[in-house]
Amino acid sequence: MDDNTTLEQLKQRVGAFAIERDWEQFHNPRDLALHLAVEAAELLDHFRYKREEELQGVLERKREEISDELADVIILAFEFARMHGFDIATAVHEKLAKNERKYPIEKSKGVKGKYNEL
Ligand SMILES: [Mg+2]
Repeated sequence: MDDNTTLEQLKQRVGAFAIERDWEQFHNPRDLALHLAVEAAELLDHFRYKREEELQGVLERKREEISDELADVIILAFEFARMHGFDIATAVHEKLAKNERKYPIEKSKGVKGKYNEL
């Protein structure tokens, strides 16, 4: 489905959901960012206090719940972009370009964290 759904289609569907419920009035940048962080915490919560060797099992056992939380994060990111005039593809391309400059392959390959802060 990722290969035949555009970002604009998703943005429109997320927007329609909010508009139909008259929720745009609540979607200021602070509250959307706060809600996005809460949903990210809900995603993280599935892995809380799990040992390294348990993580894959959690991912398999709780796949639907984890998918729902991942979707919540993405939906809120789309709504933030839609409500506040960010083009998602531009934002992702520009940030990846910054990351490519910040983490050049020759200094970063296989290295955890920022190469010059190790
Ligand atoms: Mg949630």
